[in-house]
Amino acid sequence: MADRGMATGGRGLTEGDVADTAPDWTDAGAARGRTSHASRARRFVADAARTTWHDASLWGVRAKRDAAAAQVPDWETLREDAASTKRDALARLPELWRRFEERASAAGAQVHWARDAREHNEIVARLLRDRHVSRVVKSKSMLTEECGLNPFLEARGIEVVDTDLGERIVQLRHEPPSHIVMPAIHLRRQEVGALFAREMGSAPGLEDPDALTAVARRDLRGRFLAAEAGITGVNFAVAESGAIVVVTNEGNADLGTALPPLHIACVGLEKIVPETRDLAPLLRLLARSATGQAITTYTSHFRGPRPLPGSELHVVVVDNGRSRLLARPDFEEALACIRCGACLNTCPVYRRSGGHSYATTVPGPIGSVLAPARDPGAHADLPRACSLCGSCSEVCPVKVPLHRQLLAWRGVLADEGHVPRHRRAALAFLSALMLRPTTYHVLARVARSLARRLPAPILDRLAAPWTRTRALPPIPAQSFREQMRARRRRREQEHRP
Ligand code: SF4
Repeated sequence: MADRGMATGGRGLTEGDVADTAPDWTDAGAARGRTSHASRARRFVADAARTTWHDASLWGVRAKRDAAAAQVPDWETLREDAASTKRDALARLPELWRRFEERASAAGAQVHWARDAREHNEIVARLLRDRHVSRVVKSKSMLTEECGLNPFLEARGIEVVDTDLGERIVQLRHEPPSHIVMPAIHLRRQEVGALFAREMGSAPGLEDPDALTAVARRDLRGRFLAAEAGITGVNFAVAESGAIVVVTNEGNADLGTALPPLHIACVGLEKIVPETRDLAPLLRLLARSATGQAITTYTSHFRGPRPLPGSELHVVVVDNGRSRLLARPDFEEALACIRCGACLNTCPVYRRSGGHSYATTVPGPIGSVLAPARDPGAHADLPRACSLCGSCSEVCPVKVPLHRQLLAWRGVLADEGHVPRHRRAALAFLSALMLRPTTYHVLARVARSLARRLPAPILDRLAAPWTRTRALPPIPAQSFREQMRARRRRREQEHRP
Protein backbone atom coordinates (compact mmCIF):
# COMPACT_ATOMS: atom_id res chain seq x y z
CA MET A 1 0.00 0.00 0.00
CA ALA A 2 1.07 3.55 -0.61
CA ASP A 3 2.75 5.59 2.08
CA ARG A 4 -0.31 7.00 3.84
CA GLY A 5 -1.17 8.57 7.18
CA MET A 6 -2.57 6.59 10.12
CA ALA A 7 -6.08 7.37 9.01
CA THR A 8 -7.48 4.34 10.77
CA GLY A 9 -5.80 5.20 14.04
CA GLY A 10 -8.42 6.88 16.15
CA ARG A 11 -11.56 6.31 14.14
CA GLY A 12 -13.51 6.66 17.38
CA LEU A 13 -16.06 9.40 17.32
CA THR A 14 -16.31 10.49 20.93
CA GLU A 15 -15.56 14.06 21.77
CA GLY A 16 -12.46 14.09 21.93
CA ASP A 17 -2.16 18.71 23.50
CA VAL A 18 2.54 16.19 22.23
CA ALA A 19 6.26 15.38 18.15
CA ASP A 20 9.33 14.98 19.85
CA THR A 21 9.38 18.68 20.72
CA ALA A 22 6.27 18.57 22.94
CA PRO A 23 4.53 21.85 22.09
CA ASP A 24 2.12 23.34 24.60
CA TRP A 25 -1.09 23.14 22.62
CA THR A 26 -3.54 24.52 25.11
CA ASP A 27 -5.05 27.86 24.17
CA ALA A 28 -2.87 29.49 26.81
CA GLY A 29 0.15 27.92 25.16
CA ALA A 30 -0.89 29.28 21.77
CA ALA A 31 -1.35 32.71 23.32
CA ARG A 32 2.18 32.60 24.72
CA GLY A 33 3.61 31.42 21.41
CA ARG A 34 1.86 34.03 19.24
CA THR A 35 3.17 32.44 16.07
CA SER A 36 0.86 32.76 13.10
CA HIS A 37 -1.08 30.03 11.34
CA ALA A 38 0.88 30.89 8.19
CA SER A 39 4.27 30.33 9.85
CA ARG A 40 3.18 27.04 11.44
CA ALA A 41 1.64 25.91 8.13
CA ARG A 42 4.96 26.70 6.41
CA ARG A 43 6.62 24.01 8.56
CA PHE A 44 3.98 21.46 7.51
CA VAL A 45 4.07 22.20 3.77
CA ALA A 46 7.88 22.06 3.76
CA ASP A 47 7.34 18.27 3.69
CA ALA A 48 5.74 18.14 0.23
CA ALA A 49 5.08 14.37 0.27
CA ARG A 50 3.33 14.56 3.65
CA THR A 51 1.21 17.50 2.47
CA THR A 52 0.16 15.57 -0.64
CA TRP A 53 -0.99 12.38 1.09
CA HIS A 54 -2.56 14.32 3.98
CA ASP A 55 -4.60 16.22 1.41
CA ALA A 56 -5.47 13.05 -0.52
CA SER A 57 -6.36 11.00 2.59
CA LEU A 58 -8.77 13.61 3.89
CA TRP A 59 -10.28 14.15 0.47
CA GLY A 60 -10.84 10.38 0.42
CA VAL A 61 -12.80 10.65 3.67
CA ARG A 62 -14.80 13.52 2.21
CA ALA A 63 -15.59 11.35 -0.86
CA LYS A 64 -16.81 8.53 1.44
CA ARG A 65 -19.01 11.03 3.26
CA ASP A 66 -20.49 12.17 -0.06
CA ALA A 67 -21.23 8.58 -1.09
CA ALA A 68 -22.85 7.80 2.29
CA ALA A 69 -24.96 10.97 2.17
CA ALA A 70 -26.09 10.17 -1.39
CA GLN A 71 -27.52 6.87 -0.17
CA VAL A 72 -29.89 8.62 2.21
CA PRO A 73 -32.76 10.08 0.18
CA ASP A 74 -33.88 12.37 2.99
CA TRP A 75 -30.37 13.67 3.78
CA GLU A 76 -31.36 17.34 3.61
CA THR A 77 -34.40 16.70 5.80
CA LEU A 78 -32.16 14.96 8.33
CA ARG A 79 -29.86 18.00 8.34
CA GLU A 80 -32.84 20.32 8.87
CA ASP A 81 -34.15 18.15 11.72
CA ALA A 82 -30.75 17.88 13.42
CA ALA A 83 -30.06 21.59 13.03
CA SER A 84 -33.40 22.52 14.53
CA THR A 85 -33.00 20.02 17.42
CA LYS A 86 -29.60 21.50 18.33
CA ARG A 87 -30.80 25.10 18.05
CA ASP A 88 -33.89 24.35 20.13
CA ALA A 89 -31.68 22.72 22.78
CA LEU A 90 -29.29 25.69 22.81
CA ALA A 91 -32.24 27.99 23.44
CA ARG A 92 -33.32 25.91 26.49
CA LEU A 93 -30.04 24.87 28.08
CA PRO A 94 -30.85 25.70 31.74
CA GLU A 95 -34.19 23.86 31.62
CA LEU A 96 -32.74 20.82 29.82
CA TRP A 97 -29.74 20.49 32.14
CA ARG A 98 -31.98 20.78 35.20
CA ARG A 99 -34.08 17.94 33.85
CA PHE A 100 -30.96 15.94 32.99
CA GLU A 101 -29.58 16.34 36.53
CA GLU A 102 -32.89 15.27 38.05
CA ARG A 103 -33.17 12.13 35.88
CA ALA A 104 -29.49 11.20 36.03
CA SER A 105 -29.48 11.56 39.83
CA ALA A 106 -32.62 9.44 40.06
CA ALA A 107 -30.73 6.74 38.12
CA GLY A 108 -27.84 6.90 40.61
CA ALA A 109 -25.37 9.13 38.72
CA GLN A 110 -23.82 12.24 40.27
CA VAL A 111 -23.72 15.46 38.25
CA HIS A 112 -20.99 18.07 38.80
CA TRP A 113 -20.81 21.58 37.34
CA ALA A 114 -17.55 23.18 36.18
CA ARG A 115 -17.34 26.85 35.21
CA ASP A 116 -13.99 26.49 33.46
CA ALA A 117 -11.16 24.11 32.62
CA ARG A 118 -9.52 24.52 36.03
CA GLU A 119 -12.71 23.64 37.89
CA HIS A 120 -13.27 20.66 35.60
CA ASN A 121 -9.75 19.34 36.23
CA GLU A 122 -10.07 19.87 39.99
CA ILE A 123 -13.38 18.01 40.14
CA VAL A 124 -11.94 15.04 38.23
CA ALA A 125 -8.74 15.05 40.33
CA ARG A 126 -10.76 15.17 43.58
CA LEU A 127 -12.96 12.26 42.51
CA LEU A 128 -9.86 10.21 41.74
CA ARG A 129 -7.89 11.28 44.84
CA ASP A 130 -10.79 10.55 47.21
CA ARG A 131 -10.88 6.98 45.87
CA HIS A 132 -7.07 6.58 45.88
CA VAL A 133 -6.99 6.11 42.12
CA SER A 134 -3.54 6.26 40.51
CA ARG A 135 -4.22 4.59 37.11
CA VAL A 136 -6.85 5.86 34.67
CA VAL A 137 -7.83 4.83 31.17
CA LYS A 138 -9.42 7.53 29.01
CA SER A 139 -11.31 7.30 25.74
CA LYS A 140 -11.16 10.10 23.19
CA SER A 141 -12.46 13.41 24.52
CA MET A 142 -11.70 16.74 22.88
CA LEU A 143 -13.12 18.43 25.99
CA THR A 144 -10.45 16.92 28.24
CA GLU A 145 -7.86 17.99 25.63
CA GLU A 146 -9.32 21.50 25.75
CA CYS A 147 -9.07 21.51 29.55
CA GLY A 148 -5.53 20.07 29.59
CA LEU A 149 -6.69 17.24 31.89
CA ASN A 150 -3.85 14.79 31.20
CA PRO A 151 -0.98 17.05 32.32
CA PHE A 152 -3.09 18.22 35.29
CA LEU A 153 -3.58 14.67 36.54
CA GLU A 154 -0.04 13.55 35.70
CA ALA A 155 1.35 16.45 37.74
CA ARG A 156 -0.61 14.96 40.66
CA GLY A 157 0.86 11.49 40.26
CA ILE A 158 -2.07 9.94 38.36
CA GLU A 159 -1.20 7.94 35.24
CA VAL A 160 -3.60 8.60 32.33
CA VAL A 161 -3.57 6.28 29.34
CA ASP A 162 -5.43 7.30 26.20
CA THR A 163 -7.04 4.19 24.78
CA ASP A 164 -8.24 5.33 21.36
CA LEU A 165 -5.50 4.14 18.97
CA GLY A 166 -4.92 7.52 17.31
CA GLU A 167 -4.97 9.29 20.68
CA ARG A 168 -2.52 6.73 22.11
CA ILE A 169 -0.15 7.35 19.20
CA VAL A 170 -0.12 11.12 19.71
CA GLN A 171 0.09 10.69 23.48
CA LEU A 172 3.22 8.54 23.09
CA ARG A 173 4.68 11.19 20.76
CA HIS A 174 3.87 13.91 23.31
CA GLU A 175 1.93 15.91 20.77
CA PRO A 176 -1.71 17.03 20.42
CA PRO A 177 -4.23 15.37 18.10
CA SER A 178 -4.18 16.94 14.65
CA HIS A 179 -7.79 16.01 13.82
CA ILE A 180 -10.86 15.69 16.02
CA VAL A 181 -11.86 12.26 14.67
CA MET A 182 -8.50 10.92 13.34
CA PRO A 183 -5.95 12.30 15.80
CA ALA A 184 -2.91 10.74 14.04
CA ILE A 185 -3.91 11.42 10.44
CA HIS A 186 -0.70 13.50 9.99
CA LEU A 187 1.56 10.51 10.62
CA ARG A 188 2.98 7.90 8.26
CA ARG A 189 2.60 4.28 9.24
CA GLN A 190 6.42 4.01 9.23
CA GLU A 191 6.55 6.69 11.92
CA VAL A 192 3.99 4.79 13.97
CA GLY A 193 5.99 1.56 13.49
CA ALA A 194 9.16 3.26 14.75
CA LEU A 195 7.25 4.73 17.70
CA PHE A 196 5.79 1.35 18.70
CA ALA A 197 9.21 -0.32 18.38
CA ARG A 198 10.63 2.32 20.75
CA GLU A 199 7.74 2.46 23.21
CA MET A 200 6.24 -1.02 23.08
CA GLY A 201 9.14 -3.17 21.95
CA SER A 202 7.51 -4.30 18.68
CA ALA A 203 9.62 -5.58 15.80
CA PRO A 204 11.50 -2.76 14.02
CA GLY A 205 10.18 -2.02 10.52
CA LEU A 206 6.58 -3.05 11.27
CA GLU A 207 4.25 -1.00 9.03
CA ASP A 208 1.13 -3.02 8.45
CA PRO A 209 -1.81 -1.15 10.11
CA ASP A 210 -3.45 -4.38 11.31
CA ALA A 211 -0.17 -5.59 12.87
CA LEU A 212 0.38 -2.17 14.47
CA THR A 213 -3.16 -2.20 15.84
CA ALA A 214 -2.52 -5.67 17.32
CA VAL A 215 0.64 -4.37 19.04
CA ALA A 216 -1.29 -1.44 20.56
CA ARG A 217 -4.12 -3.75 21.60
CA ARG A 218 -1.72 -6.08 23.46
CA ASP A 219 -0.10 -3.12 25.19
CA LEU A 220 -3.44 -1.58 26.15
CA ARG A 221 -5.03 -4.77 27.44
CA GLY A 222 -2.92 -4.85 30.59
CA ARG A 223 -3.59 -1.15 31.15
CA PHE A 224 -7.35 -1.68 30.91
CA LEU A 225 -7.10 -4.48 33.47
CA ALA A 226 -4.98 -2.41 35.85
CA ALA A 227 -7.07 0.78 35.61
CA GLU A 228 -8.99 1.92 38.68
CA ALA A 229 -11.15 4.45 36.80
CA GLY A 230 -12.34 5.14 33.27
CA ILE A 231 -12.84 8.64 31.84
CA THR A 232 -14.89 9.19 28.69
CA GLY A 233 -16.15 12.09 26.62
CA VAL A 234 -19.83 12.38 25.78
CA ASN A 235 -21.37 12.80 22.35
CA PHE A 236 -24.88 13.49 23.56
CA ALA A 237 -26.60 13.93 26.93
CA VAL A 238 -30.35 13.24 26.93
CA ALA A 239 -32.46 15.46 29.21
CA GLU A 240 -35.50 13.19 29.07
CA SER A 241 -33.71 10.11 30.43
CA GLY A 242 -30.61 11.46 32.17
CA ALA A 243 -28.53 9.17 29.92
CA ILE A 244 -25.25 9.95 28.18
CA VAL A 245 -24.32 8.55 24.78
CA VAL A 246 -20.74 7.71 23.82
CA VAL A 247 -19.89 6.77 20.24
CA THR A 248 -16.68 4.95 19.24
CA ASN A 249 -15.40 2.59 16.58
CA GLU A 250 -12.94 0.75 18.78
CA GLY A 251 -15.06 -0.15 21.80
CA ASN A 252 -12.39 1.34 24.05
CA ALA A 253 -14.87 3.54 25.92
CA ASP A 254 -16.95 0.45 26.73
CA LEU A 255 -13.98 -1.58 27.94
CA GLY A 256 -12.62 1.39 29.90
CA THR A 257 -15.91 1.80 31.75
CA ALA A 258 -16.84 -1.89 32.08
CA LEU A 259 -13.78 -2.97 34.07
CA PRO A 260 -13.05 -0.28 36.67
CA PRO A 261 -15.78 0.64 39.20
CA LEU A 262 -15.52 4.42 38.63
CA HIS A 263 -16.72 6.07 35.39
CA ILE A 264 -16.23 9.83 34.98
CA ALA A 265 -17.89 11.31 31.88
CA CYS A 266 -16.88 14.84 30.85
CA VAL A 267 -19.41 16.76 28.77
CA GLY A 268 -19.56 20.25 27.26
CA LEU A 269 -22.62 22.38 28.05
CA GLU A 270 -23.74 22.28 24.41
CA LYS A 271 -24.04 18.50 24.12
CA ILE A 272 -27.56 18.12 25.46
CA VAL A 273 -30.62 17.11 23.45
CA PRO A 274 -34.17 17.13 24.78
CA GLU A 275 -35.37 13.60 24.02
CA THR A 276 -34.07 10.14 23.17
CA ARG A 277 -35.77 10.22 19.78
CA ASP A 278 -33.70 13.30 18.88
CA LEU A 279 -30.68 11.02 18.76
CA ALA A 280 -31.75 9.18 15.59
CA PRO A 281 -31.04 11.91 13.00
CA LEU A 282 -27.95 13.05 14.89
CA LEU A 283 -26.41 9.58 15.04
CA ARG A 284 -27.22 8.90 11.38
CA LEU A 285 -25.60 12.18 10.37
CA LEU A 286 -22.61 11.89 12.70
CA ALA A 287 -21.25 8.57 11.44
CA ARG A 288 -21.82 9.33 7.76
CA SER A 289 -20.38 12.85 8.00
CA ALA A 290 -17.34 11.74 9.98
CA THR A 291 -16.14 8.63 8.16
CA GLY A 292 -18.78 7.70 5.60
CA GLN A 293 -19.96 4.80 7.77
CA ALA A 294 -23.68 4.06 7.99
CA ILE A 295 -23.33 3.65 11.74
CA THR A 296 -20.43 3.66 14.16
CA THR A 297 -19.39 0.32 15.63
CA TYR A 298 -20.32 1.15 19.22
CA THR A 299 -23.07 3.53 20.34
CA SER A 300 -23.29 3.12 24.12
CA HIS A 301 -25.96 4.61 26.34
CA PHE A 302 -25.03 4.98 30.03
CA ARG A 303 -27.84 5.68 32.45
CA GLY A 304 -26.65 5.53 36.03
CA PRO A 305 -23.78 3.38 37.28
CA ARG A 306 -23.53 -0.33 36.45
CA PRO A 307 -25.67 -2.48 38.74
CA LEU A 308 -22.63 -3.81 40.59
CA PRO A 309 -21.60 -3.06 44.17
CA GLY A 310 -19.24 -0.10 44.37
CA SER A 311 -19.92 1.17 40.81
CA GLU A 312 -20.15 4.94 40.35
CA LEU A 313 -21.00 7.23 37.43
CA HIS A 314 -20.05 10.92 37.65
CA VAL A 315 -20.98 13.39 34.90
CA VAL A 316 -18.95 16.62 34.84
CA VAL A 317 -20.73 19.35 32.87
CA VAL A 318 -18.33 22.02 31.64
CA ASP A 319 -18.94 25.60 30.51
CA ASN A 320 -15.42 26.93 29.83
CA GLY A 321 -16.54 29.87 27.66
CA ARG A 322 -19.54 28.19 26.05
CA SER A 323 -22.15 30.43 27.72
CA ARG A 324 -20.16 33.47 26.58
CA LEU A 325 -20.37 32.19 23.01
CA LEU A 326 -24.08 31.54 23.47
CA ALA A 327 -24.54 35.22 24.28
CA ARG A 328 -23.13 36.23 20.86
CA PRO A 329 -25.96 35.91 18.31
CA ASP A 330 -23.49 36.08 15.41
CA PHE A 331 -21.53 33.00 16.61
CA GLU A 332 -23.83 31.01 18.92
CA GLU A 333 -24.75 28.54 16.16
CA ALA A 334 -21.21 27.14 16.36
CA LEU A 335 -22.35 25.47 19.59
CA ALA A 336 -24.57 23.20 17.51
CA CYS A 337 -21.42 21.39 16.31
CA ILE A 338 -21.44 17.62 16.86
CA ARG A 339 -17.64 17.27 16.21
CA CYS A 340 -17.95 15.09 13.11
CA GLY A 341 -14.84 16.58 11.48
CA ALA A 342 -16.46 16.87 8.02
CA CYS A 343 -15.60 20.57 7.76
CA LEU A 344 -11.92 19.72 8.40
CA ASN A 345 -11.91 16.99 5.75
CA THR A 346 -13.29 19.25 3.06
CA CYS A 347 -11.34 22.44 3.93
CA PRO A 348 -8.62 23.13 1.33
CA VAL A 349 -6.60 25.07 3.92
CA TYR A 350 -6.81 22.40 6.66
CA ARG A 351 -6.00 19.58 4.24
CA ARG A 352 -2.83 21.34 3.08
CA SER A 353 -1.68 22.91 6.34
CA GLY A 354 -2.32 20.14 8.88
CA GLY A 355 -4.13 20.32 12.22
CA HIS A 356 -1.14 21.47 14.28
CA SER A 357 -0.89 24.70 12.27
CA TYR A 358 -4.04 25.92 14.07
CA ALA A 359 -2.48 25.66 17.57
CA THR A 360 -5.86 25.08 19.13
CA THR A 361 -7.55 21.93 20.43
CA VAL A 362 -10.17 21.90 17.68
CA PRO A 363 -8.56 22.82 14.32
CA GLY A 364 -10.06 23.57 10.90
CA PRO A 365 -13.09 25.75 10.13
CA ILE A 366 -15.02 25.02 13.34
CA GLY A 367 -11.85 25.52 15.42
CA SER A 368 -11.25 28.85 13.69
CA VAL A 369 -14.73 29.96 14.74
CA LEU A 370 -14.48 28.68 18.33
CA ALA A 371 -10.91 29.69 19.22
CA PRO A 372 -11.18 33.51 18.80
CA ALA A 373 -14.20 33.48 21.15
CA ARG A 374 -12.00 32.01 23.89
CA ASP A 375 -8.87 34.11 23.26
CA PRO A 376 -9.13 36.64 20.41
CA GLY A 377 -5.56 37.85 20.87
CA ALA A 378 -4.08 34.38 20.46
CA HIS A 379 -6.22 33.23 17.57
CA ALA A 380 -7.03 36.38 15.57
CA ASP A 381 -5.30 35.02 12.47
CA LEU A 382 -7.39 31.83 12.24
CA PRO A 383 -10.49 33.31 10.56
CA ARG A 384 -8.09 34.53 7.85
CA ALA A 385 -6.78 31.00 7.25
CA CYS A 386 -9.78 30.48 5.03
CA SER A 387 -10.54 30.89 1.33
CA LEU A 388 -14.25 31.52 2.05
CA CYS A 389 -15.10 28.79 -0.47
CA GLY A 390 -18.07 27.76 1.71
CA SER A 391 -17.43 24.01 1.38
CA CYS A 392 -17.46 23.63 5.20
CA SER A 393 -20.97 25.05 5.49
CA GLU A 394 -22.13 22.79 2.63
CA VAL A 395 -21.06 19.57 4.38
CA CYS A 396 -21.90 20.47 7.97
CA PRO A 397 -24.60 18.03 9.16
CA VAL A 398 -26.09 20.57 11.59
CA LYS A 399 -25.85 23.49 9.18
CA VAL A 400 -23.42 25.71 11.08
CA PRO A 401 -22.85 28.64 8.71
CA LEU A 402 -19.09 28.34 9.16
CA HIS A 403 -17.81 30.47 6.29
CA ARG A 404 -20.20 33.29 7.15
CA GLN A 405 -19.04 33.16 10.78
CA LEU A 406 -15.39 33.21 9.70
CA LEU A 407 -16.09 36.31 7.61
CA ALA A 408 -17.97 37.90 10.53
CA TRP A 409 -15.00 37.17 12.87
CA ARG A 410 -12.68 39.12 10.56
CA GLY A 411 -14.82 42.25 11.03
CA VAL A 412 -15.22 41.75 14.78
CA LEU A 413 -11.48 41.12 15.33
CA ALA A 414 -10.57 44.17 13.23
CA ASP A 415 -13.01 46.32 15.23
CA GLU A 416 -11.51 44.99 18.48
CA GLY A 417 -8.00 45.90 17.33
CA HIS A 418 -6.75 42.31 16.80
CA VAL A 419 -5.20 43.09 13.42
CA PRO A 420 -1.45 43.70 12.95
CA ARG A 421 -0.49 47.39 13.03
CA HIS A 422 0.85 47.42 9.46
CA ARG A 423 -2.38 45.93 8.10
CA ARG A 424 -4.49 48.34 10.13
CA ALA A 425 -2.46 51.32 8.77
CA ALA A 426 -2.78 50.02 5.19
CA LEU A 427 -6.54 49.55 5.54
CA ALA A 428 -6.98 53.01 7.10
CA PHE A 429 -5.02 54.55 4.21
CA LEU A 430 -7.08 52.67 1.61
CA SER A 431 -10.33 53.58 3.31
CA ALA A 432 -9.42 57.30 3.35
CA LEU A 433 -8.37 57.10 -0.30
CA MET A 434 -11.53 55.40 -1.46
CA LEU A 435 -13.64 58.08 0.18
CA ARG A 436 -11.89 60.64 -2.12
CA PRO A 437 -12.52 59.38 -5.68
CA THR A 438 -10.63 62.17 -7.47
CA THR A 439 -7.47 61.66 -5.41
CA TYR A 440 -7.86 57.89 -5.81
CA HIS A 441 -8.02 58.09 -9.62
CA VAL A 442 -5.07 60.47 -9.86
CA LEU A 443 -2.90 58.30 -7.58
CA ALA A 444 -3.98 55.10 -9.38
CA ARG A 445 -2.95 56.64 -12.72
CA VAL A 446 0.47 57.65 -11.34
CA ALA A 447 0.99 54.19 -9.76
CA ARG A 448 -0.01 52.42 -13.00
CA SER A 449 2.32 54.54 -15.06
CA LEU A 450 5.24 53.91 -12.65
CA ALA A 451 4.52 50.17 -12.47
CA ARG A 452 4.58 49.90 -16.28
CA ARG A 453 8.10 51.37 -16.31
CA LEU A 454 9.53 49.15 -13.55
CA PRO A 455 11.51 45.96 -14.46
CA ALA A 456 9.53 42.74 -13.73
CA PRO A 457 11.83 41.44 -10.90
CA ILE A 458 11.39 44.69 -8.95
CA LEU A 459 7.62 44.62 -9.47
CA ASP A 460 7.53 40.99 -8.32
CA ARG A 461 9.44 41.88 -5.17
CA LEU A 462 7.06 44.74 -4.41
CA ALA A 463 4.05 42.43 -4.80
CA ALA A 464 5.54 39.63 -2.65
CA PRO A 465 4.50 37.32 -1.05
CA TRP A 466 1.59 37.18 -3.52
CA THR A 467 4.06 36.72 -6.41
CA ARG A 468 6.01 33.90 -4.71
CA THR A 469 3.93 31.30 -6.51
CA ARG A 470 2.21 33.41 -9.19
CA ALA A 471 3.14 35.73 -12.08
CA LEU A 472 1.80 39.29 -12.07
CA PRO A 473 -0.46 39.96 -15.04
CA PRO A 474 0.72 42.73 -17.41
CA ILE A 475 -0.19 46.20 -16.08
CA PRO A 476 -2.73 47.75 -18.47
CA ALA A 477 -2.26 51.29 -19.78
CA GLN A 478 -5.80 52.25 -18.79
CA SER A 479 -7.86 51.58 -15.66
CA PHE A 480 -10.95 49.39 -15.88
CA ARG A 481 -13.18 52.48 -15.78
CA GLU A 482 -11.20 54.13 -18.59
CA GLN A 483 -11.43 50.98 -20.70
CA MET A 484 -15.19 50.76 -20.16
CA ARG A 485 -15.66 54.43 -20.98
CA ALA A 486 -13.64 54.06 -24.22
CA ARG A 487 -15.63 50.97 -25.14
CA ARG A 488 -18.93 52.72 -24.58
CA ARG A 489 -17.78 55.67 -26.73
CA ARG A 490 -16.81 53.30 -29.55
CA ARG A 491 -20.19 51.58 -29.39
CA GLU A 492 -22.04 54.88 -29.46
CA GLN A 493 -20.05 55.97 -32.53
CA GLU A 494 -20.77 52.66 -34.27
CA HIS A 495 -24.49 53.00 -33.67
CA ARG A 496 -24.68 56.67 -34.70
CA PRO A 497 -26.64 57.03 -37.97
S1 SF4 B 1 -18.98 22.42 12.41
FE1 SF4 B 1 -20.33 20.93 11.39
S2 SF4 B 1 -18.96 19.88 9.92
FE2 SF4 B 1 -17.58 20.93 11.39
S3 SF4 B 1 -17.14 19.36 12.97
FE3 SF4 B 1 -18.96 20.55 13.69
S4 SF4 B 1 -20.73 19.38 12.96
FE4 SF4 B 1 -18.98 18.63 11.80
